[in-house]
Amino acid sequence: MQLNEFILANETNIRMGFFLGILAVMAIWEIIAPRRALTVSKAVRWLNNLGIVFLNSLLLRLVFPTAAVGVALFAEQHGWGLLNYYQTPYWLAVVITIVAMDLIIYLQHVMVHAIPMLWRLHRLHHADLDYDLTTGARFHPIEIFLSMLIKFATIVVLGPPAVAVIMFEVILNFMAMFNHANVRLPLALDRLLRMMVVTPDMHRVHHSVEDDEANSNFGFNLSIWDRIFGTYRDQPRGGHEGMTIGIHKYRDSKDVSWLPGMLLLPLKGKISSYAINRRHWNGSDEE
Ligand SMILES: [Zn+2]
Ligand SMILES: [Zn+2]
Repeated sequence: MQLNEFILANETNIRMGFFLGILAVMAIWEIIAPRRALTVSKAVRWLNNLGIVFLNSLLLRLVFPTAAVGVALFAEQHGWGLLNYYQTPYWLAVVITIVAMDLIIYLQHVMVHAIPMLWRLHRLHHADLDYDLTTGARFHPIEIFLSMLIKFATIVVLGPPAVAVIMFEVILNFMAMFNHANVRLPLALDRLLRMMVVTPDMHRVHHSVEDDEANSNFGFNLSIWDRIFGTYRDQPRGGHEGMTIGIHKYRDSKDVSWLPGMLLLPLKGKISSYAINRRHWNGSDEE
């Protein structure tokens, strides 16, 4: 278990190293093989989208100094959670943790689309007029705060090994940058990867201005959740080059591309209809 101790002792450096390394690789890939032309300058995008990451990291450190790993260690010491209660081989506990935490992230993502108040917060992620690796990092601080509470609750019930929590967070971080990347993957490779994980072409559909497309492909890591729960959509109707990214009503760059407007975005506009209320029966067998 020496490796475990090393990981726990160097958690921040490991996370930071992965984050910067992946960021650099994906940024170069986006320059070499871009999928779409950007509509907003890269400098504005990086400044504001990464500005929000910086702000969120600062806030999280202030509000939750121990973070998810701290909760996992606490649960372990007190014998809380299923995996601490039932004897489970270590490798199996790691696999269960990664799969279960991914399922929760999927369900949480469906929930923030379905509940109007939460959609207001999540809108910031969708209002980006372009789609690149920095899109994967732009979330409203209040949404980040809520995700953290859901994650803590998951850990208390699940009782995962602390190292598995770090692994999940590094994987999520990697996958968020990978599947939001403005990169072109050979179609055959995309199809192969999609059998297991979410690819850039798969998640791009979720960033379409079209309601039905935006309400599909909620997964971040494993592609299986969308297939099991019937939210999977193969490709955007307009094609990857022709589709419009963002939200129909919010396309003013001061609201969606600059940090102050981005943070105030949840307060914009009237409360409109509840996404689930928009479902109509059209007389067919399909529900
Ligand atoms: Zn979404
Ligand atoms: Zn996204």
